[in-house]
Amino acid sequence: MNNDTICALATGSGSGAISVVRVSGEATFDVLARVFSKDLHDARPNTIHYGRIVDADGLTVDDVLVAVFRAPHSYTGENSAEISCHGSTYIVRRILTLLTANGCRLAAPGEYTQRAFLNGKMDLSQAEAVADLIASTNRATHQLALSQMRGGFSSELSQLREQLLRLTSLLELELDFSDHEDLEFADRSELLSLVQHIDERIASLARSFEAGQALKAGIPVAIIGKTNVGKSTLLNRLLKDNRAIVSDVHGTTRDTIEEAMDINGVQFRFIDTAGIRSTADVVERIGIERTYQALTKAHVVLWLIDDNPTDEEFADLCSRLTHQKLIIVCNKTDLPEVRSRLSSSDAHRWQALPVAYKIVDISARDNRNIDVLEQTIYDMADLPEFKETDVVVTSARHYDALVRARLSLSRVRDGLSSQLSGDLVAEDLRIVLSDLAEITGQGIITPQETL
Ligand code: GDP
Repeated sequence: MNNDTICALATGSGSGAISVVRVSGEATFDVLARVFSKDLHDARPNTIHYGRIVDADGLTVDDVLVAVFRAPHSYTGENSAEISCHGSTYIVRRILTLLTANGCRLAAPGEYTQRAFLNGKMDLSQAEAVADLIASTNRATHQLALSQMRGGFSSELSQLREQLLRLTSLLELELDFSDHEDLEFADRSELLSLVQHIDERIASLARSFEAGQALKAGIPVAIIGKTNVGKSTLLNRLLKDNRAIVSDVHGTTRDTIEEAMDINGVQFRFIDTAGIRSTADVVERIGIERTYQALTKAHVVLWLIDDNPTDEEFADLCSRLTHQKLIIVCNKTDLPEVRSRLSSSDAHRWQALPVAYKIVDISARDNRNIDVLEQTIYDMADLPEFKETDVVVTSARHYDALVRARLSLSRVRDGLSSQLSGDLVAEDLRIVLSDLAEITGQGIITPQETL
Protein backbone atom coordinates (compact mmCIF):
# COMPACT_ATOMS: atom_id res chain seq x y z
CA MET A 1 0.00 0.00 0.00
CA ASN A 2 2.80 2.38 0.86
CA ASN A 3 4.42 2.05 -2.55
CA ASP A 4 1.32 3.42 -4.22
CA THR A 5 1.44 6.87 -5.68
CA ILE A 6 -1.47 8.78 -4.20
CA CYS A 7 -3.37 11.89 -5.18
CA ALA A 8 -5.97 14.10 -3.51
CA LEU A 9 -7.44 17.56 -3.50
CA ALA A 10 -5.41 19.48 -0.92
CA THR A 11 -7.53 22.61 -0.75
CA GLY A 12 -11.16 22.95 0.35
CA SER A 13 -13.60 21.96 -2.35
CA GLY A 14 -16.11 24.22 -4.00
CA SER A 15 -14.70 27.63 -3.24
CA GLY A 16 -11.71 29.76 -4.15
CA ALA A 17 -10.09 30.78 -7.41
CA ILE A 18 -7.44 28.08 -7.20
CA SER A 19 -7.46 24.46 -6.13
CA VAL A 20 -4.39 22.38 -5.39
CA VAL A 21 -4.18 18.68 -6.20
CA ARG A 22 -1.33 16.81 -4.57
CA VAL A 23 0.44 13.78 -5.96
CA SER A 24 2.91 11.81 -3.83
CA GLY A 25 4.85 8.60 -4.29
CA GLU A 26 7.63 6.99 -6.25
CA ALA A 27 5.81 7.17 -9.60
CA THR A 28 4.78 10.84 -9.27
CA PHE A 29 6.74 12.02 -12.31
CA ASP A 30 5.82 8.98 -14.41
CA VAL A 31 2.14 9.68 -13.83
CA LEU A 32 2.60 13.38 -14.51
CA ALA A 33 4.42 12.65 -17.76
CA ARG A 34 1.20 11.02 -19.00
CA VAL A 35 -1.11 13.95 -18.15
CA PHE A 36 1.03 17.11 -18.12
CA SER A 37 2.33 18.85 -21.22
CA LYS A 38 5.93 18.87 -19.94
CA ASP A 39 8.16 16.03 -18.78
CA LEU A 40 9.25 16.78 -15.23
CA HIS A 41 11.55 13.77 -14.70
CA ASP A 42 14.58 16.01 -14.81
CA ALA A 43 13.01 19.13 -13.31
CA ARG A 44 14.95 20.57 -10.40
CA PRO A 45 13.41 20.19 -6.92
CA ASN A 46 11.37 23.09 -5.52
CA THR A 47 10.61 24.57 -8.93
CA ILE A 48 7.29 25.52 -10.48
CA HIS A 49 6.32 24.69 -14.07
CA TYR A 50 3.60 26.22 -16.18
CA GLY A 51 1.81 23.91 -18.62
CA ARG A 52 -1.40 22.10 -19.48
CA ILE A 53 -3.19 19.07 -18.12
CA VAL A 54 -4.22 17.09 -21.19
CA ASP A 55 -6.66 14.17 -21.39
CA ALA A 56 -6.34 10.91 -23.37
CA ASP A 57 -7.79 12.56 -26.48
CA GLY A 58 -5.23 15.33 -26.34
CA LEU A 59 -7.80 17.88 -25.14
CA THR A 60 -6.72 20.49 -22.60
CA VAL A 61 -8.40 20.18 -19.20
CA ASP A 62 -6.78 23.26 -17.67
CA ASP A 63 -3.72 25.53 -17.66
CA VAL A 64 -1.91 24.77 -14.44
CA LEU A 65 1.23 25.31 -12.37
CA VAL A 66 3.03 22.24 -11.12
CA ALA A 67 5.38 22.47 -8.11
CA VAL A 68 8.06 19.77 -8.01
CA PHE A 69 9.40 18.27 -4.74
CA ARG A 70 11.92 15.47 -4.57
CA ALA A 71 12.43 12.85 -1.88
CA PRO A 72 13.31 13.28 0.89
CA HIS A 73 12.69 17.03 0.83
CA SER A 74 8.92 17.06 0.67
CA TYR A 75 6.08 16.99 3.16
CA THR A 76 5.70 13.21 2.85
CA GLY A 77 9.40 12.57 2.32
CA GLU A 78 8.58 11.10 -1.11
CA ASN A 79 8.71 12.47 -4.64
CA SER A 80 5.69 14.68 -4.90
CA ALA A 81 4.03 17.40 -6.93
CA GLU A 82 1.35 19.99 -6.36
CA ILE A 83 -0.87 20.91 -9.26
CA SER A 84 -2.46 24.36 -8.90
CA CYS A 85 -5.46 24.47 -11.21
CA HIS A 86 -8.48 26.74 -11.51
CA GLY A 87 -10.85 26.27 -8.60
CA SER A 88 -13.65 24.47 -10.38
CA THR A 89 -15.12 21.28 -9.00
CA TYR A 90 -15.39 19.99 -12.55
CA ILE A 91 -11.71 20.63 -13.35
CA VAL A 92 -10.57 19.08 -10.07
CA ARG A 93 -12.67 16.00 -10.74
CA ARG A 94 -11.27 15.66 -14.26
CA ILE A 95 -7.69 15.99 -13.03
CA LEU A 96 -8.19 13.42 -10.26
CA THR A 97 -9.84 11.04 -12.73
CA LEU A 98 -6.92 11.43 -15.14
CA LEU A 99 -4.38 10.87 -12.39
CA THR A 100 -6.12 7.73 -11.15
CA ALA A 101 -6.46 6.42 -14.71
CA ASN A 102 -2.71 6.88 -15.12
CA GLY A 103 -1.32 5.09 -12.09
CA CYS A 104 -2.40 7.01 -8.96
CA ARG A 105 -4.74 5.95 -6.22
CA LEU A 106 -6.93 8.40 -4.30
CA ALA A 107 -5.37 9.09 -0.91
CA ALA A 108 -7.17 7.97 2.23
CA PRO A 109 -7.97 10.72 4.77
CA GLY A 110 -4.79 11.68 6.65
CA GLU A 111 -2.61 9.52 4.39
CA TYR A 112 -0.21 12.33 3.49
CA THR A 113 0.55 12.99 7.14
CA GLN A 114 0.68 9.25 7.82
CA ARG A 115 3.37 8.92 5.13
CA ALA A 116 5.25 11.86 6.59
CA PHE A 117 5.22 10.02 9.93
CA LEU A 118 6.25 6.67 8.40
CA ASN A 119 9.07 8.33 6.48
CA GLY A 120 10.40 9.98 9.63
CA LYS A 121 9.48 13.52 8.54
CA MET A 122 7.61 14.00 11.79
CA ASP A 123 6.76 12.01 14.86
CA LEU A 124 3.29 11.11 16.05
CA SER A 125 2.83 14.16 18.26
CA GLN A 126 3.81 16.41 15.36
CA ALA A 127 1.46 14.57 13.01
CA GLU A 128 -1.37 15.11 15.49
CA ALA A 129 -0.49 18.79 15.68
CA VAL A 130 -1.13 19.09 11.93
CA ALA A 131 -4.78 18.21 12.58
CA ASP A 132 -4.88 20.77 15.40
CA LEU A 133 -3.28 23.38 13.17
CA ILE A 134 -5.91 22.89 10.48
CA ALA A 135 -8.66 23.03 13.10
CA SER A 136 -7.28 26.12 14.88
CA THR A 137 -9.73 28.98 15.05
CA ASN A 138 -7.81 31.65 16.92
CA ARG A 139 -4.36 32.96 17.72
CA ALA A 140 -3.89 30.92 20.87
CA THR A 141 -4.81 27.50 19.46
CA HIS A 142 -2.86 28.29 16.30
CA GLN A 143 0.27 29.01 18.29
CA LEU A 144 -0.09 25.86 20.37
CA ALA A 145 -0.43 23.64 17.30
CA LEU A 146 2.41 25.40 15.51
CA SER A 147 4.82 24.89 18.38
CA GLN A 148 3.90 21.22 18.65
CA MET A 149 4.24 20.68 14.91
CA ARG A 150 7.66 22.26 14.91
CA GLY A 151 8.70 19.58 17.34
CA GLY A 152 9.30 21.45 20.62
CA PHE A 153 7.54 18.71 22.55
CA SER A 154 9.35 15.99 20.63
CA SER A 155 12.78 17.41 21.29
CA GLU A 156 12.00 17.85 24.98
CA LEU A 157 10.94 14.20 25.09
CA SER A 158 14.02 13.02 23.29
CA GLN A 159 16.19 14.85 25.85
CA LEU A 160 14.34 13.11 28.67
CA ARG A 161 14.72 9.84 26.82
CA GLU A 162 18.48 10.29 26.59
CA GLN A 163 18.75 10.99 30.30
CA LEU A 164 16.66 7.93 31.08
CA LEU A 165 18.72 5.76 28.76
CA ARG A 166 21.90 6.90 30.46
CA LEU A 167 20.40 5.99 33.79
CA THR A 168 19.36 2.57 32.57
CA SER A 169 22.71 1.81 31.05
CA LEU A 170 24.53 2.71 34.28
CA LEU A 171 22.32 0.34 36.20
CA GLU A 172 22.74 -2.41 33.64
CA LEU A 173 26.47 -2.02 33.61
CA GLU A 174 26.45 -2.81 37.30
CA LEU A 175 24.59 -6.01 36.59
CA ASP A 176 27.31 -7.13 34.17
CA PHE A 177 29.79 -6.85 36.98
CA SER A 178 27.54 -8.24 39.64
CA ASP A 179 30.27 -10.69 40.78
CA HIS A 180 32.08 -7.71 42.22
CA GLU A 181 29.77 -7.18 45.14
CA ASP A 182 30.66 -3.65 46.15
CA LEU A 183 31.08 -2.24 42.68
CA GLU A 184 28.63 0.60 42.15
CA PHE A 185 28.91 2.48 38.86
CA ALA A 186 25.90 4.51 39.56
CA ASP A 187 26.02 6.68 42.62
CA ARG A 188 22.54 6.19 44.09
CA SER A 189 22.08 9.75 45.31
CA GLU A 190 23.15 11.12 41.94
CA LEU A 191 20.65 8.81 40.27
CA LEU A 192 17.96 9.96 42.65
CA SER A 193 18.56 13.59 41.84
CA LEU A 194 18.47 12.80 38.12
CA VAL A 195 15.17 10.98 38.62
CA GLN A 196 13.92 13.99 40.57
CA HIS A 197 14.89 16.32 37.72
CA ILE A 198 13.20 14.15 35.10
CA ASP A 199 10.11 13.89 37.26
CA GLU A 200 9.89 17.68 37.53
CA ARG A 201 10.11 18.07 33.77
CA ILE A 202 7.43 15.47 33.16
CA ALA A 203 5.26 17.08 35.85
CA SER A 204 5.59 20.50 34.25
CA LEU A 205 4.70 19.07 30.84
CA ALA A 206 1.64 17.46 32.40
CA ARG A 207 0.71 20.77 34.07
CA SER A 208 0.93 22.57 30.77
CA PHE A 209 -1.88 20.29 29.64
CA GLU A 210 -4.36 22.04 31.91
CA ALA A 211 -3.38 25.45 30.56
CA GLY A 212 -3.35 24.17 26.97
CA GLN A 213 -6.70 22.53 27.51
CA ALA A 214 -8.24 25.79 28.73
CA LEU A 215 -6.91 27.60 25.67
CA LYS A 216 -8.21 24.94 23.32
CA ALA A 217 -11.62 24.59 24.94
CA GLY A 218 -12.00 28.28 25.80
CA ILE A 219 -11.47 30.01 29.16
CA PRO A 220 -14.66 29.58 31.20
CA VAL A 221 -16.23 32.84 32.39
CA ALA A 222 -19.40 32.73 34.51
CA ILE A 223 -21.82 35.64 34.44
CA ILE A 224 -23.74 35.73 37.69
CA GLY A 225 -26.06 38.15 39.43
CA LYS A 226 -29.64 38.63 40.47
CA THR A 227 -32.44 38.35 37.93
CA ASN A 228 -32.98 41.47 35.84
CA VAL A 229 -29.59 42.91 36.60
CA GLY A 230 -28.77 42.77 32.86
CA LYS A 231 -26.86 39.50 32.39
CA SER A 232 -28.47 38.56 29.09
CA THR A 233 -28.15 42.10 27.80
CA LEU A 234 -24.46 42.06 28.62
CA LEU A 235 -23.91 38.68 27.00
CA ASN A 236 -25.58 39.86 23.81
CA ARG A 237 -23.51 43.01 23.91
CA LEU A 238 -20.29 41.04 24.27
CA LEU A 239 -21.29 38.66 21.51
CA LYS A 240 -22.17 41.34 19.01
CA ASP A 241 -18.62 41.99 17.90
CA ASN A 242 -17.00 38.80 18.97
CA ARG A 243 -19.22 35.90 18.21
CA ALA A 244 -17.09 32.95 17.26
CA ILE A 245 -18.92 29.73 17.89
CA VAL A 246 -22.36 29.61 19.40
CA SER A 247 -23.29 26.63 21.45
CA ASP A 248 -26.54 26.73 23.34
CA VAL A 249 -26.56 24.20 26.09
CA HIS A 250 -30.22 23.66 26.75
CA GLY A 251 -31.35 21.34 29.44
CA THR A 252 -34.19 22.28 31.68
CA THR A 253 -36.14 25.50 31.29
CA ARG A 254 -33.81 27.62 33.35
CA ASP A 255 -30.53 26.08 32.33
CA THR A 256 -27.26 27.85 31.71
CA ILE A 257 -26.47 29.17 28.24
CA GLU A 258 -22.95 28.96 26.95
CA GLU A 259 -21.46 31.10 24.20
CA ALA A 260 -17.90 31.25 22.95
CA MET A 261 -16.15 34.34 21.66
CA ASP A 262 -12.69 35.65 21.00
CA ILE A 263 -11.04 38.41 22.99
CA ASN A 264 -7.61 39.43 21.72
CA GLY A 265 -7.32 36.18 19.79
CA VAL A 266 -8.14 33.91 22.71
CA GLN A 267 -11.35 31.97 23.05
CA PHE A 268 -13.51 32.56 26.13
CA ARG A 269 -16.61 30.58 27.01
CA PHE A 270 -19.25 32.74 28.65
CA ILE A 271 -21.77 30.97 30.80
CA ASP A 272 -24.88 33.02 31.37
CA THR A 273 -26.44 31.65 34.50
CA ALA A 274 -29.86 31.64 36.08
CA GLY A 275 -30.32 34.61 38.39
CA ILE A 276 -29.35 33.88 41.95
CA ARG A 277 -32.16 34.42 44.45
CA SER A 278 -33.77 32.37 47.14
CA THR A 279 -36.73 30.55 45.74
CA ALA A 280 -39.09 27.74 46.55
CA ASP A 281 -39.53 26.87 42.87
CA VAL A 282 -37.93 23.46 42.37
CA VAL A 283 -36.99 24.00 38.71
CA GLU A 284 -35.52 27.39 39.46
CA ARG A 285 -33.55 25.90 42.32
CA ILE A 286 -32.02 23.42 39.85
CA GLY A 287 -31.05 26.38 37.67
CA ILE A 288 -29.45 28.11 40.62
CA GLU A 289 -27.58 24.94 41.54
CA ARG A 290 -26.21 24.89 37.98
CA THR A 291 -25.14 28.49 38.48
CA TYR A 292 -23.08 27.39 41.44
CA GLN A 293 -21.53 24.59 39.38
CA ALA A 294 -20.64 27.06 36.63
CA LEU A 295 -19.13 29.25 39.30
CA THR A 296 -16.93 26.46 40.53
CA LYS A 297 -15.57 25.70 37.06
CA ALA A 298 -15.08 29.29 35.96
CA HIS A 299 -11.66 30.93 35.76
CA VAL A 300 -13.22 34.38 35.77
CA VAL A 301 -16.52 35.38 37.36
CA LEU A 302 -18.46 38.45 36.26
CA TRP A 303 -20.68 39.50 39.13
CA LEU A 304 -23.27 41.89 37.81
CA ILE A 305 -24.86 44.29 40.25
CA ASP A 306 -27.11 47.34 39.96
CA ASP A 307 -27.53 47.80 43.66
CA ASN A 308 -25.53 47.23 46.81
CA PRO A 309 -25.63 43.54 47.61
CA THR A 310 -27.04 42.54 50.97
CA ASP A 311 -24.72 41.09 53.61
CA GLU A 312 -26.26 37.71 52.98
CA GLU A 313 -25.64 37.87 49.21
CA PHE A 314 -22.10 39.03 49.75
CA ALA A 315 -21.35 36.28 52.26
CA ASP A 316 -22.90 33.69 49.97
CA LEU A 317 -20.69 34.69 47.06
CA CYS A 318 -17.57 34.82 49.22
CA SER A 319 -18.23 31.29 50.40
CA ARG A 320 -18.22 30.05 46.82
CA LEU A 321 -15.10 31.77 45.55
CA THR A 322 -11.89 29.82 45.80
CA HIS A 323 -9.58 30.05 42.80
CA GLN A 324 -11.59 32.30 40.47
CA LYS A 325 -10.82 35.90 39.55
CA LEU A 326 -13.75 38.20 40.20
CA ILE A 327 -14.92 41.21 38.23
CA ILE A 328 -17.60 43.24 39.97
CA VAL A 329 -19.55 44.70 37.07
CA CYS A 330 -21.68 47.68 38.06
CA ASN A 331 -24.34 47.73 35.35
CA LYS A 332 -26.99 50.30 34.41
CA THR A 333 -24.69 53.19 35.31
CA ASP A 334 -26.56 55.18 32.66
CA LEU A 335 -29.25 55.56 35.35
CA PRO A 336 -28.50 58.32 37.90
CA GLU A 337 -30.23 56.41 40.71
CA VAL A 338 -28.04 53.37 40.08
CA ARG A 339 -24.95 55.57 40.05
CA SER A 340 -25.84 57.16 43.36
CA ARG A 341 -26.78 53.84 44.98
CA LEU A 342 -23.52 52.22 43.94
CA SER A 343 -21.30 55.18 44.72
CA SER A 344 -22.45 54.95 48.32
CA SER A 345 -21.25 51.35 48.50
CA ASP A 346 -18.61 50.63 51.03
CA ALA A 347 -15.29 49.96 49.33
CA HIS A 348 -13.93 48.31 52.47
CA ARG A 349 -16.41 45.59 52.03
CA TRP A 350 -14.84 44.41 48.77
CA GLN A 351 -11.56 43.94 50.51
CA ALA A 352 -13.07 41.04 52.42
CA LEU A 353 -13.36 39.10 49.15
CA PRO A 354 -11.28 35.92 49.23
CA VAL A 355 -10.04 36.27 45.64
CA ALA A 356 -8.46 38.90 43.38
CA TYR A 357 -11.05 41.33 42.06
CA LYS A 358 -11.56 44.42 39.91
CA ILE A 359 -14.51 46.77 39.58
CA VAL A 360 -15.78 47.96 36.20
CA ASP A 361 -18.70 50.37 35.64
CA ILE A 362 -20.68 49.68 32.49
CA SER A 363 -23.96 50.25 30.79
CA ALA A 364 -24.87 47.13 28.87
CA ARG A 365 -27.82 48.93 27.35
CA ASP A 366 -25.79 51.89 26.08
CA ASN A 367 -22.70 49.85 25.21
CA ARG A 368 -20.59 51.92 27.60
CA ASN A 369 -17.24 50.55 28.80
CA ILE A 370 -17.81 47.13 27.25
CA ASP A 371 -14.33 47.34 25.68
CA VAL A 372 -12.85 48.10 29.12
CA LEU A 373 -14.69 45.11 30.52
CA GLU A 374 -13.36 42.87 27.74
CA GLN A 375 -9.79 43.95 28.37
CA THR A 376 -10.28 43.41 32.11
CA ILE A 377 -11.59 39.88 31.45
CA TYR A 378 -8.53 39.18 29.30
CA ASP A 379 -6.13 40.57 31.92
CA MET A 380 -7.81 38.83 34.85
CA ALA A 381 -7.76 35.47 33.05
CA ASP A 382 -4.01 35.69 33.56
CA LEU A 383 -3.35 33.59 30.52
CA PRO A 384 -0.13 31.75 30.20
CA GLU A 385 1.60 33.50 27.32
CA PHE A 386 2.92 30.70 25.18
CA LYS A 387 5.83 31.51 22.96
CA GLU A 388 6.27 29.57 19.76
CA THR A 389 9.14 27.69 21.35
CA ASP A 390 7.25 26.73 24.51
CA VAL A 391 6.21 23.18 24.97
CA VAL A 392 2.55 22.75 25.79
CA VAL A 393 0.81 19.41 25.96
CA THR A 394 -2.58 19.66 24.29
CA SER A 395 -3.56 16.07 23.70
CA ALA A 396 -5.30 13.93 26.30
CA ARG A 397 -3.42 10.91 24.94
CA HIS A 398 -0.08 12.59 25.65
CA TYR A 399 -1.23 13.72 29.05
CA ASP A 400 -2.29 10.20 29.91
CA ALA A 401 1.11 8.82 28.86
CA LEU A 402 2.89 11.48 30.92
CA VAL A 403 0.84 10.66 34.01
CA ARG A 404 1.68 6.96 33.61
CA ALA A 405 5.35 7.77 33.09
CA ARG A 406 5.36 9.72 36.36
CA LEU A 407 3.80 6.80 38.18
CA SER A 408 6.45 4.40 36.88
CA LEU A 409 9.12 6.96 37.69
CA SER A 410 7.94 7.08 41.28
CA ARG A 411 8.55 3.31 41.47
CA VAL A 412 12.07 3.93 40.16
CA ARG A 413 12.58 6.50 42.90
CA ASP A 414 11.26 4.14 45.58
CA GLY A 415 13.47 1.36 44.21
CA LEU A 416 16.56 3.55 44.30
CA SER A 417 15.84 4.78 47.82
CA SER A 418 15.21 1.30 49.16
CA GLN A 419 18.36 -0.12 47.52
CA LEU A 420 16.30 -2.39 45.27
CA SER A 421 18.49 -4.40 42.91
CA GLY A 422 19.55 -2.64 39.73
CA ASP A 423 17.75 -4.98 37.35
CA LEU A 424 14.37 -4.32 38.95
CA VAL A 425 14.92 -0.57 38.88
CA ALA A 426 16.05 -0.82 35.26
CA GLU A 427 12.84 -2.67 34.48
CA ASP A 428 10.76 0.23 35.82
CA LEU A 429 12.90 2.66 33.87
CA ARG A 430 12.05 0.74 30.73
CA ILE A 431 8.38 1.20 31.48
CA VAL A 432 8.91 4.96 31.81
CA LEU A 433 10.71 4.95 28.47
CA SER A 434 7.96 3.02 26.77
CA ASP A 435 5.29 5.33 28.25
CA LEU A 436 7.11 8.32 26.78
CA ALA A 437 7.74 6.51 23.50
CA GLU A 438 3.98 6.13 23.07
CA ILE A 439 3.72 9.88 22.61
CA THR A 440 6.12 10.12 19.73
CA GLY A 441 5.28 6.71 18.31
CA GLN A 442 8.86 5.49 18.72
CA GLY A 443 9.19 1.77 19.24
CA ILE A 444 9.90 0.24 22.59
CA ILE A 445 13.56 0.43 23.51
CA THR A 446 15.64 -2.64 22.82
CA PRO A 447 18.24 -3.70 25.38
CA GLN A 448 21.08 -3.03 22.91
CA GLU A 449 20.03 0.57 22.62
CA THR A 450 20.74 1.21 26.25
CA LEU A 451 24.41 0.22 26.01
P1 GDP B 1 -31.04 39.31 33.34
O1 GDP B 1 -32.28 38.77 33.98
O2 GDP B 1 -29.97 39.53 34.38
O3 GDP B 1 -30.53 38.49 32.19
O4 GDP B 1 -31.37 40.77 32.82
P2 GDP B 1 -31.74 41.25 31.34
O5 GDP B 1 -30.56 41.30 30.49
O6 GDP B 1 -32.90 40.42 30.87
O7 GDP B 1 -32.18 42.72 31.62
C1 GDP B 1 -33.26 43.08 32.51
C2 GDP B 1 -33.72 44.48 32.18
O8 GDP B 1 -32.70 45.44 32.45
C3 GDP B 1 -34.10 44.66 30.73
O9 GDP B 1 -35.26 45.46 30.66
C4 GDP B 1 -32.90 45.42 30.15
O10 GDP B 1 -33.26 46.23 29.06
C5 GDP B 1 -32.47 46.26 31.32
N1 GDP B 1 -31.06 46.62 31.24
C6 GDP B 1 -30.01 45.79 31.02
N2 GDP B 1 -28.85 46.49 31.00
C7 GDP B 1 -29.17 47.79 31.23
C8 GDP B 1 -28.41 49.01 31.33
O11 GDP B 1 -27.19 49.04 31.19
N3 GDP B 1 -29.10 50.16 31.58
C9 GDP B 1 -30.45 50.17 31.73
N4 GDP B 1 -31.02 51.35 31.97
N5 GDP B 1 -31.20 49.06 31.63
C10 GDP B 1 -30.58 47.88 31.38
